[in-house]
Amino acid sequence: CGIVGYLGHREAYPIIIEGLKRLEYRGYDSAGIALFDGTDLKISKTKGKVSDLEERSEKEITTSGSLGIGHTRWATHGVPNDVNSHPHASNSGELAIIHNGIIENYDALKKELISRGYTFQSDTDTEVLINLIEDVKKNENVKLGKAVQIALNQVIGAYAIAVFDKTKPGEVVIARLGSPLAVGIGEDEFFIASDASPFLEYTKNAIYLEDEEMAIIRLGKGIKVRKIKDDSLVVPYVQELQM
Ligand code: GLU
Repeated sequence: CGIVGYLGHREAYPIIIEGLKRLEYRGYDSAGIALFDGTDLKISKTKGKVSDLEERSEKEITTSGSLGIGHTRWATHGVPNDVNSHPHASNSGELAIIHNGIIENYDALKKELISRGYTFQSDTDTEVLINLIEDVKKNENVKLGKAVQIALNQVIGAYAIAVFDKTKPGEVVIARLGSPLAVGIGEDEFFIASDASPFLEYTKNAIYLEDEEMAIIRLGKGIKVRKIKDDSLVVPYVQELQM
């Protein structure tokens, strides 16, 4: 039930682990992290507490990187176990996603994807969404942001998501409908989280996405917010947090 992400120049791993600890109050049954280490996408996840994740990920993620996403899960589709924990990767292994919420029409979407040759490791609705995004990206030959937008317009449900593509590591795409999502804006670095607590010590400048909005966050280029439905640009309001 919590989301954390980092894109910038610092070590992403400790920021994400500490951030997940600050979001523990939201309740959860599993935790996980995906880190891009400059070459590979490393995913470590487990049923249990963030402290269990830390123990595991210290062994599984031995390289460092400054792009990553982390998640605490409150299971809705698929029992709480290691495989159903987030992040989830797409079939190609290129895309990684974290998701809070529910994809209500996941079953129909999953059947369609299976008929096109996709396979699934988990029982989650989330793994369906990341493969739908991959399918749109490949078939329509669009960039990640556009693929996320097209996929979300086929989805019924609620979500806060963060997605990245290991072949384009300067970018994270996020979207919100019914679950909170904040972006902390530093000096050429960005923090993504369910609330501001994971990034307050790094920056006081934050954008809160509204429902039905998505954002494409790019290193060196900044953040572009759009309406998911009609693609119109939104001028984001940057708040100065007082805490
Ligand atoms: N529906 C997703 C799952 O069961 C996300 C649950 C959540 O909000 O943590 O994996």
